Amino acid sequence: MFESLQERLGSILNGLTGRGALSEADVSAALREVRRALIEADVALEVVRSFTDRVREKAVGAEVLKSIKPGQMVVKIVHDELVATLGSEGETIDLNAPAPVVVMMVGLQGSGKTTTTGKIAKRLTERQGKKVLMASLDTRRPAAQEQLRQIGEQVSVATLPVIAGQSPVDIARRAVQAGKLGGHDVVILDTAGRTHIDEPLMIEMADIRKVSDPHEILLVADSLTGQDAVNLARSFDERVGLTGLVLTRMDGDGRGGAALSMRAVTGKPVKLIGTGEKMDALEEFHPKRIADRILGMGDIVSLVEKAAETIDAEKAAAMAKKMQSGKFDLNDLADQLRQMQKMGGMGGIMGLMPGMGKMKDQLAAAGLDDKMFGRQLAIISSMTKKERANPDILKHSRKKRIAAGSGTSAADINKLLKMHRQMADMMKAMGGKGKGAGMMQKMM
Ligand code: GDP
Repeated sequence: MFESLQERLGSILNGLTGRGALSEADVSAALREVRRALIEADVALEVVRSFTDRVREKAVGAEVLKSIKPGQMVVKIVHDELVATLGSEGETIDLNAPAPVVVMMVGLQGSGKTTTTGKIAKRLTERQGKKVLMASLDTRRPAAQEQLRQIGEQVSVATLPVIAGQSPVDIARRAVQAGKLGGHDVVILDTAGRTHIDEPLMIEMADIRKVSDPHEILLVADSLTGQDAVNLARSFDERVGLTGLVLTRMDGDGRGGAALSMRAVTGKPVKLIGTGEKMDALEEFHPKRIADRILGMGDIVSLVEKAAETIDAEKAAAMAKKMQSGKFDLNDLADQLRQMQKMGGMGGIMGLMPGMGKMKDQLAAAGLDDKMFGRQLAIISSMTKKERANPDILKHSRKKRIAAGSGTSAADINKLLKMHRQMADMMKAMGGKGKGAGMMQKMM
């Protein structure tokens, strides 16, 4: 069994008593383990390298919050970066083109291309009511065309009749033609594979592409592909041009590193995953699930979510304390503005804050609506650290500079400062009555 990354990082980082920011040394130690975990998960080396570089950038200096351990903090950063790299959820096959929409399946022999062709045809037919035609362009293996015909029978989808002696390019042309004449919505071309990438294969794929003008070109790849994943994806993308990836055998016990490798080198989305030999074993891609799998942590989702909750709760508590003491500076205001943006603007926030009607009026009077958040944040970030902590020191000349730096006017800055003063006063008053903390916690 794989030792979980959490356990490994635990033994390195949980012994650290130092809190505060993650140091370069902490992060380097942690990243050695992250690298090992990624390599064990079959992520290609060059991708491991660029990935850990990005994590390092984000992690060094990141603050470790009181209730979570440094190891958990690193895991959270790694997990978030994995999800970001794996990319968007819910990408599906795009059929937004004049019929018949041509979908070209490419990949190595044995990757699951023919099976996946059948699965996709079945899905489009049953779930989207599409009229689909499948065609096998594999003239090299005599059994291939027969295999697709049988699959077609099994899923009740039409296949292009075989004409002996035709070249793959001829078959592609005929398939598109038949799709047009037969009123098909979609034509799926199941191209021939090889055991490895070679020049004739790439030339054949490029030729097929030329005559069939596919709207989607999907690389079907075995999720157990290791270091080769990068080469495979890069070659097909450069020579044929991919629009998406399909990973098969995700039902196996591989760790799914190929998803990361291929996504990273091509930037193309994983659109579907194959999870078995049966014709309905095709699923949408969920970056979060794959990230968990790569890290080898069944419980990471809850762990990460807990960590995120903790972060928010700690922030809220710290903020409440500040408010009670009357110290609410522009850094805090910037934090609040960011939180407000995150929470869906003014409407969302005010709904969460009983008795905040008065504050809402004041914010509105100060010209703070949803569009203003960004401008206000720009103003604050143009100030120096000292000015943010103590805005009273701002002279007119500095205001003009800041206005120029943030693309606003001195009047905008004065408005912001006035709003900040009013908020600080009000929060101090609320804090004095001991209500602020609860209210603020709700707000975060
Ligand atoms: P092709 O040469 O690329 O067309 O590959 P095939 O479609 O013929 O698939 C090769 C083998 O892999 C077949 O036995 C399929 O049943 C099997 N296969 C394809 N996709 C999956 C999958 O997602 N999971 C599992 N377990 N087997 C699969």
